[in-house]
Amino acid sequence: MAIVQTVEGDGRRRLRVASPATEQPIGDLPVTTGDEVRAAVTRARRAQPAWEALGFQGRAAFMQKALELLIRRQEEMMDVIVRETGRSRFETVMMEIFPACDSLGYYAKNAGRILGDRKVPMHLLKTKKLLITYRPLGVIGIITPWNGPFILSLNPSVQALMAGNTVVLKPSEVTPFSGRLVGDLFRDAGLPPDVLTVVEGDGETGAALVEAGVDKISFTGSVRTGRKVGETCGRNLIPCTLELGGKDPMVVCGDADPSRAARGAVFGAFMNAGQFCCSTERVYVVDAIADEFTRLVVEETKALKLGTVGEFDIGPMIWPKQLETIERHVADAIARGARVLAGGKRATPVGGLFYEPTVLVDVTHDMAVMREETFGPILPIVRVRDENEAIRLANDTTYGLSSNLWTRDEDKAIRLSKQLCSGSVCVNDSSITYGAIEAPFGGRRTSGVGQVNGEAGLRGYCFAQPILLDRFQAKQEYVWYPYTAAKAKTLQRAMRWIWGTHLGRWLM
Ligand code: NAD
Repeated sequence: MAIVQTVEGDGRRRLRVASPATEQPIGDLPVTTGDEVRAAVTRARRAQPAWEALGFQGRAAFMQKALELLIRRQEEMMDVIVRETGRSRFETVMMEIFPACDSLGYYAKNAGRILGDRKVPMHLLKTKKLLITYRPLGVIGIITPWNGPFILSLNPSVQALMAGNTVVLKPSEVTPFSGRLVGDLFRDAGLPPDVLTVVEGDGETGAALVEAGVDKISFTGSVRTGRKVGETCGRNLIPCTLELGGKDPMVVCGDADPSRAARGAVFGAFMNAGQFCCSTERVYVVDAIADEFTRLVVEETKALKLGTVGEFDIGPMIWPKQLETIERHVADAIARGARVLAGGKRATPVGGLFYEPTVLVDVTHDMAVMREETFGPILPIVRVRDENEAIRLANDTTYGLSSNLWTRDEDKAIRLSKQLCSGSVCVNDSSITYGAIEAPFGGRRTSGVGQVNGEAGLRGYCFAQPILLDRFQAKQEYVWYPYTAAKAKTLQRAMRWIWGTHLGRWLM
Protein backbone atom coordinates (compact mmCIF):
# COMPACT_ATOMS: atom_id res chain seq x y z
CA MET A 1 0.00 0.00 0.00
CA ALA A 2 0.91 3.59 0.49
CA ILE A 3 4.46 4.69 0.38
CA VAL A 4 6.42 7.45 1.94
CA GLN A 5 9.50 8.70 0.18
CA THR A 6 12.35 10.00 2.22
CA VAL A 7 15.73 11.27 1.25
CA GLU A 8 18.52 9.46 2.98
CA GLY A 9 22.07 10.57 3.60
CA ASP A 10 23.12 9.51 0.08
CA GLY A 11 20.29 11.54 -1.42
CA ARG A 12 18.55 8.43 -2.75
CA ARG A 13 14.79 8.26 -2.30
CA ARG A 14 13.25 5.11 -0.86
CA LEU A 15 9.81 3.52 -1.11
CA ARG A 16 8.47 2.62 2.31
CA VAL A 17 5.76 0.03 2.03
CA ALA A 18 3.10 -0.89 4.60
CA SER A 19 0.33 -3.49 4.65
CA PRO A 20 -3.08 -2.05 3.71
CA ALA A 21 -4.73 -4.66 5.94
CA THR A 22 -2.83 -3.84 9.12
CA GLU A 23 -1.01 -0.63 8.24
CA GLN A 24 2.17 -2.23 9.61
CA PRO A 25 5.45 -1.69 7.71
CA ILE A 26 6.46 -4.41 5.23
CA GLY A 27 9.79 -3.13 3.98
CA ASP A 28 11.44 -0.53 1.85
CA LEU A 29 13.22 -0.26 -1.48
CA PRO A 30 15.59 2.24 -3.06
CA VAL A 31 14.18 4.31 -5.92
CA THR A 32 15.97 3.96 -9.27
CA THR A 33 17.45 7.30 -10.34
CA GLY A 34 16.86 8.88 -13.73
CA ASP A 35 20.46 8.10 -14.75
CA GLU A 36 19.96 4.46 -13.78
CA VAL A 37 16.74 4.30 -15.82
CA ARG A 38 18.56 5.63 -18.89
CA ALA A 39 21.42 3.18 -18.32
CA ALA A 40 18.89 0.30 -18.07
CA VAL A 41 17.42 1.33 -21.44
CA THR A 42 20.90 1.49 -23.01
CA ARG A 43 21.73 -2.00 -21.70
CA ALA A 44 18.34 -3.30 -22.87
CA ARG A 45 19.07 -1.95 -26.34
CA ARG A 46 22.40 -3.77 -26.41
CA ALA A 47 20.76 -6.99 -25.28
CA GLN A 48 17.95 -6.84 -27.84
CA PRO A 49 19.58 -8.21 -31.03
CA ALA A 50 20.76 -11.41 -29.31
CA TRP A 51 17.34 -11.86 -27.70
CA GLU A 52 15.61 -11.41 -31.05
CA ALA A 53 18.07 -13.82 -32.69
CA LEU A 54 16.89 -16.61 -30.39
CA GLY A 55 13.72 -16.84 -32.46
CA PHE A 56 10.27 -17.75 -31.18
CA GLN A 57 11.22 -21.18 -29.93
CA GLY A 58 14.29 -19.94 -28.13
CA ARG A 59 12.32 -17.19 -26.39
CA ALA A 60 9.40 -19.50 -25.66
CA ALA A 61 11.76 -21.83 -23.77
CA PHE A 62 12.35 -19.04 -21.21
CA MET A 63 8.59 -18.42 -20.89
CA GLN A 64 8.05 -22.16 -20.30
CA LYS A 65 10.74 -22.16 -17.66
CA ALA A 66 9.14 -19.11 -15.98
CA LEU A 67 5.79 -20.89 -16.11
CA GLU A 68 7.20 -23.98 -14.39
CA LEU A 69 8.79 -21.81 -11.71
CA LEU A 70 5.59 -19.83 -11.18
CA ILE A 71 3.59 -22.99 -10.64
CA ARG A 72 6.22 -24.38 -8.30
CA ARG A 73 6.60 -21.15 -6.31
CA GLN A 74 3.03 -19.91 -6.38
CA GLU A 75 2.53 -19.99 -2.60
CA GLU A 76 5.64 -17.95 -1.96
CA MET A 77 4.67 -15.43 -4.65
CA MET A 78 1.15 -15.19 -3.32
CA ASP A 79 2.56 -14.44 0.12
CA VAL A 80 4.25 -11.35 -1.30
CA ILE A 81 1.15 -10.15 -3.18
CA VAL A 82 -1.24 -10.85 -0.29
CA ARG A 83 1.03 -9.04 2.15
CA GLU A 84 1.13 -5.97 -0.07
CA THR A 85 -2.51 -5.87 -1.27
CA GLY A 86 -4.40 -7.42 1.66
CA ARG A 87 -6.44 -9.55 -0.74
CA SER A 88 -7.67 -13.07 -0.05
CA ARG A 89 -5.53 -15.92 -1.36
CA PHE A 90 -8.34 -17.07 -3.64
CA GLU A 91 -8.60 -13.63 -5.26
CA THR A 92 -4.82 -13.55 -5.62
CA VAL A 93 -4.59 -16.89 -7.37
CA MET A 94 -7.65 -16.10 -9.48
CA MET A 95 -6.65 -12.55 -10.50
CA GLU A 96 -2.87 -12.76 -10.59
CA ILE A 97 -1.30 -16.22 -10.69
CA PHE A 98 -3.75 -18.14 -12.88
CA PRO A 99 -3.86 -15.50 -15.65
CA ALA A 100 -0.08 -15.10 -15.41
CA CYS A 101 0.29 -18.82 -16.16
CA ASP A 102 -2.12 -18.45 -19.05
CA SER A 103 -0.20 -15.49 -20.46
CA LEU A 104 3.16 -17.30 -20.29
CA GLY A 105 1.74 -20.50 -21.75
CA TYR A 106 -0.38 -18.88 -24.46
CA TYR A 107 2.19 -16.50 -25.91
CA ALA A 108 4.97 -19.09 -25.67
CA LYS A 109 2.83 -21.42 -27.75
CA ASN A 110 1.19 -18.96 -30.15
CA ALA A 111 3.56 -16.02 -30.73
CA GLY A 112 5.35 -17.85 -33.57
CA ARG A 113 2.05 -18.46 -35.36
CA ILE A 114 0.76 -14.92 -34.80
CA LEU A 115 4.00 -13.12 -35.65
CA GLY A 116 5.46 -15.50 -38.21
CA ASP A 117 6.13 -14.18 -41.74
CA ARG A 118 2.91 -14.06 -43.78
CA LYS A 119 2.62 -14.36 -47.56
CA VAL A 120 -0.17 -12.15 -48.84
CA PRO A 121 -1.56 -12.77 -52.35
CA MET A 122 -1.48 -9.66 -54.55
CA HIS A 123 -4.73 -8.57 -56.16
CA LEU A 124 -3.11 -6.24 -58.68
CA LEU A 125 0.67 -6.34 -58.76
CA LYS A 126 0.90 -9.90 -60.02
CA THR A 127 4.61 -9.60 -60.80
CA LYS A 128 5.36 -9.17 -57.10
CA LYS A 129 5.28 -11.34 -54.00
CA LEU A 130 4.37 -9.75 -50.67
CA LEU A 131 5.70 -10.99 -47.38
CA ILE A 132 4.55 -9.30 -44.16
CA THR A 133 7.08 -9.66 -41.38
CA TYR A 134 6.63 -8.53 -37.79
CA ARG A 135 9.79 -6.84 -36.57
CA PRO A 136 10.32 -6.14 -32.89
CA LEU A 137 10.33 -2.45 -32.06
CA GLY A 138 13.43 -2.62 -29.85
CA VAL A 139 13.12 -1.62 -26.19
CA ILE A 140 9.66 -1.40 -24.63
CA GLY A 141 9.02 0.71 -21.53
CA ILE A 142 6.21 -0.80 -19.47
CA ILE A 143 4.56 1.26 -16.72
CA THR A 144 1.92 -0.37 -14.54
CA PRO A 145 -0.56 0.34 -11.70
CA TRP A 146 -1.10 -1.22 -8.28
CA ASN A 147 -4.48 -2.85 -8.61
CA GLY A 148 -3.23 -5.98 -10.38
CA PRO A 149 0.41 -5.47 -9.51
CA PHE A 150 1.76 -8.81 -10.75
CA ILE A 151 -0.42 -9.72 -13.73
CA LEU A 152 -0.56 -6.21 -15.19
CA SER A 153 3.25 -6.12 -15.12
CA LEU A 154 3.81 -9.67 -16.30
CA ASN A 155 1.30 -9.88 -19.15
CA PRO A 156 2.57 -6.96 -21.27
CA SER A 157 6.16 -8.02 -20.51
CA VAL A 158 5.51 -11.53 -21.87
CA GLN A 159 3.98 -10.11 -25.05
CA ALA A 160 6.79 -7.61 -25.60
CA LEU A 161 9.45 -10.28 -24.95
CA MET A 162 7.87 -12.93 -27.16
CA ALA A 163 7.75 -10.35 -29.96
CA GLY A 164 11.55 -10.08 -29.69
CA ASN A 165 11.84 -6.86 -27.72
CA THR A 166 13.69 -6.21 -24.51
CA VAL A 167 11.83 -4.58 -21.63
CA VAL A 168 12.34 -2.01 -18.92
CA LEU A 169 9.46 -2.37 -16.48
CA LYS A 170 8.37 0.28 -13.95
CA PRO A 171 5.77 -1.21 -11.61
CA SER A 172 3.64 0.91 -9.28
CA GLU A 173 5.29 2.49 -6.27
CA VAL A 174 2.22 1.48 -4.25
CA THR A 175 2.95 -2.25 -4.66
CA PRO A 176 6.64 -2.47 -5.62
CA PHE A 177 7.32 -5.88 -4.08
CA SER A 178 4.61 -7.53 -6.19
CA GLY A 179 5.83 -5.82 -9.36
CA ARG A 180 9.38 -6.87 -8.60
CA LEU A 181 8.30 -10.51 -8.63
CA VAL A 182 8.16 -10.31 -12.42
CA GLY A 183 11.88 -9.50 -12.54
CA ASP A 184 12.69 -12.22 -10.01
CA LEU A 185 10.70 -14.80 -11.95
CA PHE A 186 12.42 -14.12 -15.26
CA ARG A 187 15.85 -13.86 -13.64
CA ASP A 188 15.36 -17.26 -12.02
CA ALA A 189 14.10 -18.64 -15.32
CA GLY A 190 17.55 -17.79 -16.70
CA LEU A 191 16.56 -14.86 -18.92
CA PRO A 192 19.79 -13.34 -20.30
CA PRO A 193 20.99 -10.19 -18.52
CA ASP A 194 19.27 -6.90 -19.41
CA VAL A 195 16.49 -8.54 -21.42
CA LEU A 196 14.03 -7.48 -18.70
CA THR A 197 14.98 -4.92 -16.07
CA VAL A 198 12.71 -3.72 -13.29
CA VAL A 199 13.18 -0.12 -12.21
CA GLU A 200 11.60 1.04 -8.97
CA GLY A 201 9.90 4.30 -8.18
CA ASP A 202 6.98 6.65 -8.58
CA GLY A 203 5.86 9.08 -11.27
CA GLU A 204 9.29 10.62 -11.46
CA THR A 205 10.81 7.25 -12.41
CA GLY A 206 7.95 6.59 -14.84
CA ALA A 207 8.46 9.97 -16.49
CA ALA A 208 12.21 9.27 -16.77
CA LEU A 209 11.45 5.97 -18.52
CA VAL A 210 9.13 7.64 -21.04
CA GLU A 211 11.93 10.08 -21.91
CA ALA A 212 14.75 7.50 -21.84
CA GLY A 213 14.78 6.68 -25.55
CA VAL A 214 12.57 3.58 -25.53
CA ASP A 215 10.82 2.52 -28.75
CA LYS A 216 7.34 2.17 -27.29
CA ILE A 217 5.54 2.77 -24.01
CA SER A 218 2.95 0.31 -22.82
CA PHE A 219 1.16 2.18 -20.05
CA THR A 220 -1.61 1.03 -17.71
CA GLY A 221 -2.97 3.50 -15.19
CA SER A 222 -5.16 6.54 -14.72
CA VAL A 223 -6.50 8.86 -17.41
CA ARG A 224 -4.64 11.76 -15.82
CA THR A 225 -1.21 10.10 -16.06
CA GLY A 226 -2.04 8.45 -19.38
CA ARG A 227 -2.60 11.87 -20.90
CA LYS A 228 0.84 13.04 -19.73
CA VAL A 229 2.51 9.86 -21.02
CA GLY A 230 0.70 10.20 -24.36
CA GLU A 231 1.81 13.84 -24.68
CA THR A 232 5.46 12.92 -24.12
CA CYS A 233 5.26 9.99 -26.54
CA GLY A 234 3.70 12.34 -29.10
CA ARG A 235 6.52 14.83 -28.66
CA ASN A 236 9.14 12.07 -28.98
CA LEU A 237 7.24 10.39 -31.84
CA ILE A 238 7.16 6.98 -30.22
CA PRO A 239 4.06 4.77 -30.17
CA CYS A 240 2.22 4.01 -26.97
CA THR A 241 -0.71 1.99 -25.79
CA LEU A 242 -2.65 3.60 -22.97
CA GLU A 243 -4.85 1.30 -20.90
CA LEU A 244 -6.73 3.73 -18.69
CA GLY A 245 -9.60 4.04 -16.23
CA GLY A 246 -13.25 3.23 -16.66
CA LYS A 247 -16.75 3.71 -15.31
CA ASP A 248 -18.21 0.45 -16.52
CA PRO A 249 -21.97 0.18 -16.87
CA MET A 250 -24.03 -2.94 -16.31
CA VAL A 251 -27.25 -3.14 -18.31
CA VAL A 252 -29.88 -5.53 -16.96
CA CYS A 253 -32.68 -6.20 -19.45
CA GLY A 254 -36.20 -7.11 -18.41
CA ASP A 255 -35.74 -10.75 -19.52
CA ALA A 256 -32.48 -11.31 -17.58
CA ASP A 257 -32.23 -13.97 -14.89
CA PRO A 258 -32.41 -11.69 -11.83
CA SER A 259 -30.58 -14.10 -9.56
CA ARG A 260 -27.56 -14.61 -11.86
CA ALA A 261 -27.51 -10.90 -12.71
CA ALA A 262 -27.55 -9.93 -9.01
CA ARG A 263 -24.72 -12.30 -8.16
CA GLY A 264 -22.81 -11.08 -11.21
CA ALA A 265 -23.34 -7.46 -10.14
CA VAL A 266 -21.99 -8.16 -6.66
CA PHE A 267 -18.92 -9.96 -8.02
CA GLY A 268 -18.39 -7.37 -10.76
CA ALA A 269 -18.57 -4.45 -8.35
CA PHE A 270 -16.75 -5.83 -5.33
CA MET A 271 -14.02 -8.06 -6.73
CA ASN A 272 -10.65 -6.75 -5.53
CA ALA A 273 -12.75 -4.40 -3.35
CA GLY A 274 -13.80 -2.61 -6.52
CA GLN A 275 -10.20 -1.78 -7.46
CA PHE A 276 -10.45 -3.27 -10.91
CA CYS A 277 -10.39 -1.25 -14.12
CA CYS A 278 -13.42 -3.18 -15.43
CA SER A 279 -15.37 -3.02 -12.17
CA THR A 280 -19.09 -2.61 -12.53
CA GLU A 281 -19.44 1.00 -11.37
CA ARG A 282 -23.04 1.72 -12.47
CA VAL A 283 -26.09 -0.51 -12.92
CA TYR A 284 -29.09 0.25 -15.13
CA VAL A 285 -31.87 -2.22 -14.49
CA VAL A 286 -35.14 -2.31 -16.38
CA ASP A 287 -38.16 -1.51 -14.22
CA ALA A 288 -39.80 -4.93 -14.69
CA ILE A 289 -37.15 -6.73 -12.62
CA ALA A 290 -35.61 -3.83 -10.71
CA ASP A 291 -37.21 -4.64 -7.33
CA GLU A 292 -36.22 -8.29 -7.32
CA PHE A 293 -32.75 -7.59 -8.70
CA THR A 294 -32.07 -4.88 -6.09
CA ARG A 295 -33.36 -7.04 -3.24
CA LEU A 296 -31.05 -9.90 -4.29
CA VAL A 297 -28.07 -7.57 -4.72
CA VAL A 298 -28.55 -6.21 -1.19
CA GLU A 299 -28.95 -9.72 0.24
CA GLU A 300 -25.76 -10.94 -1.51
CA THR A 301 -23.84 -7.82 -0.51
CA LYS A 302 -24.73 -8.18 3.17
CA ALA A 303 -23.46 -11.77 3.10
CA LEU A 304 -19.94 -10.77 2.00
CA LYS A 305 -17.17 -11.26 4.54
CA LEU A 306 -14.46 -8.65 5.08
CA GLY A 307 -11.21 -9.96 6.43
CA THR A 308 -7.49 -10.20 6.59
CA VAL A 309 -6.71 -13.87 7.18
CA GLY A 310 -8.25 -17.20 6.23
CA GLU A 311 -11.35 -17.29 4.06
CA PHE A 312 -12.89 -13.91 3.31
CA ASP A 313 -14.35 -12.07 0.34
CA ILE A 314 -13.37 -8.43 0.62
CA GLY A 315 -9.95 -7.07 1.45
CA PRO A 316 -8.90 -3.48 2.09
CA MET A 317 -8.33 -0.59 -0.24
CA ILE A 318 -4.75 -0.94 -1.40
CA TRP A 319 -3.88 2.64 -0.47
CA PRO A 320 -5.50 5.52 1.45
CA LYS A 321 -6.15 7.72 -1.60
CA GLN A 322 -8.87 5.25 -2.64
CA LEU A 323 -10.69 5.61 0.67
CA GLU A 324 -10.76 9.38 0.24
CA THR A 325 -12.33 9.08 -3.24
CA ILE A 326 -14.90 6.56 -2.04
CA GLU A 327 -15.93 8.68 0.93
CA ARG A 328 -16.24 11.76 -1.25
CA HIS A 329 -18.42 9.93 -3.79
CA VAL A 330 -20.72 8.37 -1.19
CA ALA A 331 -21.10 11.65 0.76
CA ASP A 332 -21.88 13.56 -2.43
CA ALA A 333 -24.45 10.95 -3.49
CA ILE A 334 -26.20 11.03 -0.10
CA ALA A 335 -26.21 14.83 -0.04
CA ARG A 336 -27.95 14.80 -3.44
CA GLY A 337 -30.63 12.32 -2.39
CA ALA A 338 -29.19 8.81 -2.82
CA ARG A 339 -30.16 6.11 -0.31
CA VAL A 340 -27.75 3.54 1.13
CA LEU A 341 -29.19 0.01 1.14
CA ALA A 342 -26.01 -1.72 2.33
CA GLY A 343 -22.65 -0.58 3.67
CA GLY A 344 -21.93 3.11 3.33
CA LYS A 345 -19.02 3.51 5.73
CA ARG A 346 -15.47 2.50 6.57
CA ALA A 347 -15.02 -0.84 8.26
CA THR A 348 -12.21 -1.85 10.56
CA PRO A 349 -11.93 -5.61 11.09
CA VAL A 350 -8.42 -5.08 12.47
CA GLY A 351 -7.65 -1.53 11.48
CA GLY A 352 -6.51 -1.19 7.89
CA LEU A 353 -8.07 0.54 4.92
CA PHE A 354 -11.43 -1.22 4.70
CA TYR A 355 -14.68 0.11 3.28
CA GLU A 356 -17.94 -1.81 3.48
CA PRO A 357 -19.35 -3.05 0.16
CA THR A 358 -22.03 -0.47 -0.51
CA VAL A 359 -25.26 -0.45 -2.51
CA LEU A 360 -26.80 2.91 -3.43
CA VAL A 361 -30.19 3.63 -5.02
CA ASP A 362 -31.96 6.83 -6.10
CA VAL A 363 -28.76 7.94 -7.79
CA THR A 364 -28.72 10.42 -10.66
CA HIS A 365 -26.22 11.34 -13.34
CA ASP A 366 -25.23 14.61 -11.70
CA MET A 367 -23.57 12.70 -8.82
CA ALA A 368 -19.80 12.14 -8.75
CA VAL A 369 -20.40 8.44 -8.10
CA MET A 370 -22.06 8.20 -11.53
CA ARG A 371 -19.55 10.30 -13.44
CA GLU A 372 -16.07 9.77 -11.99
CA GLU A 373 -14.20 6.49 -11.59
CA THR A 374 -14.66 5.43 -7.94
CA PHE A 375 -12.38 2.38 -7.96
CA GLY A 376 -13.92 1.08 -4.75
CA PRO A 377 -16.68 -1.25 -3.51
CA ILE A 378 -19.63 0.99 -4.41
CA LEU A 379 -22.57 -0.22 -6.49
CA PRO A 380 -25.08 2.45 -7.55
CA ILE A 381 -28.29 1.08 -9.07
CA VAL A 382 -30.52 3.07 -11.42
CA ARG A 383 -34.02 1.93 -12.39
CA VAL A 384 -34.80 2.59 -16.07
CA ARG A 385 -37.94 2.41 -18.20
CA ASP A 386 -36.51 0.15 -20.88
CA GLU A 387 -33.34 -1.06 -22.58
CA ASN A 388 -33.08 2.03 -24.80
CA GLU A 389 -32.93 4.27 -21.76
CA ALA A 390 -30.34 1.94 -20.21
CA ILE A 391 -28.10 2.16 -23.28
CA ARG A 392 -28.49 5.93 -23.49
CA LEU A 393 -27.45 6.36 -19.84
CA ALA A 394 -24.69 3.75 -20.09
CA ASN A 395 -23.18 5.80 -22.94
CA ASP A 396 -23.57 9.08 -21.03
CA THR A 397 -19.96 9.11 -19.80
CA THR A 398 -16.54 10.25 -20.89
CA TYR A 399 -15.21 6.69 -20.36
CA GLY A 400 -15.53 3.59 -22.55
CA LEU A 401 -13.51 0.72 -21.13
CA SER A 402 -15.91 -2.21 -20.89
CA SER A 403 -19.54 -3.01 -20.14
CA ASN A 404 -21.69 -5.95 -19.19
CA LEU A 405 -25.14 -6.74 -20.41
CA TRP A 406 -27.66 -9.26 -19.09
CA THR A 407 -30.44 -10.86 -21.13
CA ARG A 408 -31.60 -14.33 -22.14
CA ASP A 409 -31.86 -13.27 -25.80
CA GLU A 410 -28.53 -13.62 -27.62
CA ASP A 411 -29.58 -11.67 -30.73
CA LYS A 412 -30.70 -8.79 -28.57
CA ALA A 413 -27.43 -9.02 -26.60
CA ILE A 414 -25.37 -8.61 -29.77
CA ARG A 415 -27.58 -5.79 -31.10
CA LEU A 416 -27.42 -3.83 -27.82
CA SER A 417 -23.71 -4.54 -27.33
CA LYS A 418 -22.96 -2.83 -30.63
CA GLN A 419 -24.80 0.26 -29.36
CA LEU A 420 -22.53 0.53 -26.32
CA CYS A 421 -19.54 2.83 -26.74
CA SER A 422 -17.27 0.43 -24.95
CA GLY A 423 -13.93 -1.28 -25.60
CA SER A 424 -15.55 -4.65 -24.89
CA VAL A 425 -18.85 -6.09 -23.73
CA CYS A 426 -19.48 -9.20 -21.62
CA VAL A 427 -22.89 -10.79 -21.86
CA ASN A 428 -24.33 -12.52 -18.79
CA ASP A 429 -21.05 -12.20 -16.94
CA SER A 430 -19.22 -9.35 -15.29
CA SER A 431 -16.49 -7.73 -17.34
CA ILE A 432 -13.79 -10.36 -17.65
CA THR A 433 -12.47 -9.62 -21.14
CA TYR A 434 -8.94 -8.98 -19.89
CA GLY A 435 -8.82 -12.64 -18.86
CA ALA A 436 -10.02 -13.83 -22.29
CA ILE A 437 -6.56 -13.81 -23.78
CA GLU A 438 -7.62 -14.00 -27.44
CA ALA A 439 -9.77 -10.87 -27.07
CA PRO A 440 -8.11 -7.54 -27.91
CA PHE A 441 -8.47 -5.37 -24.83
CA GLY A 442 -8.54 -1.58 -24.72
CA GLY A 443 -10.71 1.41 -24.06
CA ARG A 444 -12.62 3.94 -26.13
CA ARG A 445 -12.95 7.67 -25.42
CA THR A 446 -10.79 8.59 -22.40
CA SER A 447 -10.37 4.93 -21.38
CA GLY A 448 -7.41 4.45 -23.63
CA VAL A 449 -5.55 4.35 -26.87
CA GLY A 450 -4.70 1.09 -28.62
CA GLN A 451 -5.22 -2.45 -27.45
CA VAL A 452 -3.30 -5.18 -25.65
CA ASN A 453 -3.74 -8.97 -25.66
CA GLY A 454 -4.54 -11.44 -28.39
CA GLU A 455 -3.22 -11.18 -31.93
CA ALA A 456 -3.73 -7.41 -32.24
CA GLY A 457 -2.06 -6.76 -28.89
CA LEU A 458 0.95 -8.93 -29.67
CA ARG A 459 1.38 -7.31 -33.08
CA GLY A 460 1.29 -3.94 -31.29
CA TYR A 461 4.75 -4.76 -29.93
CA CYS A 462 6.03 -5.02 -33.50
CA PHE A 463 6.31 -3.03 -36.65
CA ALA A 464 4.59 -4.77 -39.55
CA GLN A 465 7.30 -4.62 -42.22
CA PRO A 466 6.15 -5.60 -45.72
CA ILE A 467 8.83 -7.09 -47.98
CA LEU A 468 7.82 -6.78 -51.60
CA LEU A 469 9.71 -9.17 -53.87
CA ASP A 470 9.85 -8.94 -57.65
CA ARG A 471 9.09 -12.35 -59.20
CA PHE A 472 10.68 -12.19 -62.64
CA GLN A 473 13.41 -9.58 -62.54
CA ALA A 474 12.85 -8.38 -66.10
CA LYS A 475 15.26 -5.80 -67.51
CA GLN A 476 12.77 -3.01 -67.01
CA GLU A 477 9.46 -2.18 -65.25
CA TYR A 478 6.73 -0.63 -67.32
CA VAL A 479 6.53 2.57 -65.23
CA TRP A 480 10.29 3.21 -65.28
CA TYR A 481 11.80 5.83 -67.60
CA PRO A 482 11.35 6.89 -70.29
CA TYR A 483 7.90 8.44 -69.78
CA THR A 484 5.98 8.45 -73.06
CA ALA A 485 2.51 9.44 -74.23
CA ALA A 486 1.97 5.86 -75.48
CA LYS A 487 2.66 4.46 -72.01
CA ALA A 488 0.19 6.90 -70.45
CA LYS A 489 -2.49 5.77 -72.91
CA THR A 490 -1.86 2.10 -72.13
CA LEU A 491 -2.17 2.79 -68.39
CA GLN A 492 -5.42 4.67 -68.95
CA ARG A 493 -6.79 1.79 -71.08
CA ALA A 494 -5.84 -0.61 -68.29
CA MET A 495 -7.65 1.56 -65.73
CA ARG A 496 -10.79 1.63 -67.85
CA TRP A 497 -10.73 -2.15 -68.18
CA ILE A 498 -9.90 -2.95 -64.54
CA TRP A 499 -12.33 -0.59 -62.80
CA GLY A 500 -14.71 0.15 -65.65
CA THR A 501 -15.81 -3.38 -66.56
CA HIS A 502 -17.61 -6.07 -64.56
CA LEU A 503 -14.95 -8.66 -65.42
CA GLY A 504 -12.13 -6.32 -64.38
CA ARG A 505 -13.77 -5.45 -61.04
CA TRP A 506 -14.55 -9.11 -60.41
CA LEU A 507 -10.96 -10.15 -61.10
CA MET A 508 -9.61 -7.52 -58.74
P1 NAD B 1 -1.51 6.13 -11.98
O1 NAD B 1 -1.77 6.73 -13.30
O2 NAD B 1 -1.46 7.00 -10.80
O3 NAD B 1 -0.11 5.33 -12.00
C1 NAD B 1 0.16 4.32 -12.93
C2 NAD B 1 1.66 4.21 -13.12
O4 NAD B 1 2.15 5.40 -13.73
C3 NAD B 1 2.44 4.04 -11.83
O5 NAD B 1 3.47 3.12 -12.03
C4 NAD B 1 3.00 5.43 -11.60
O6 NAD B 1 4.17 5.46 -10.84
C5 NAD B 1 3.26 5.88 -13.01
N1 NAD B 1 3.33 7.33 -13.21
C6 NAD B 1 2.80 8.32 -12.45
N2 NAD B 1 3.08 9.52 -13.00
C7 NAD B 1 3.78 9.29 -14.13
C8 NAD B 1 4.33 10.12 -15.15
N3 NAD B 1 4.21 11.45 -15.11
N4 NAD B 1 4.96 9.54 -16.19
C9 NAD B 1 5.07 8.20 -16.27
N5 NAD B 1 4.58 7.35 -15.32
C10 NAD B 1 3.94 7.89 -14.27
O7 NAD B 1 -2.59 4.99 -11.81
P2 NAD B 1 -2.81 4.04 -10.55
O8 NAD B 1 -3.48 4.83 -9.48
O9 NAD B 1 -1.56 3.33 -10.24
O10 NAD B 1 -3.81 2.95 -11.15
C11 NAD B 1 -5.19 3.04 -11.11
C12 NAD B 1 -5.75 3.43 -12.45
O11 NAD B 1 -5.33 2.48 -13.43
C13 NAD B 1 -7.26 3.40 -12.48
O12 NAD B 1 -7.74 4.52 -13.17
C14 NAD B 1 -7.57 2.12 -13.24
O13 NAD B 1 -8.83 2.12 -13.89
C15 NAD B 1 -6.45 2.10 -14.22
N6 NAD B 1 -6.25 0.75 -14.75
C16 NAD B 1 -6.52 0.53 -16.07
C17 NAD B 1 -6.39 -0.77 -16.59
C18 NAD B 1 -6.68 -1.05 -18.04
O14 NAD B 1 -6.25 -2.09 -18.52
N7 NAD B 1 -7.39 -0.19 -18.75
C19 NAD B 1 -5.96 -1.79 -15.76
C20 NAD B 1 -5.71 -1.52 -14.43
C21 NAD B 1 -5.84 -0.24 -13.93
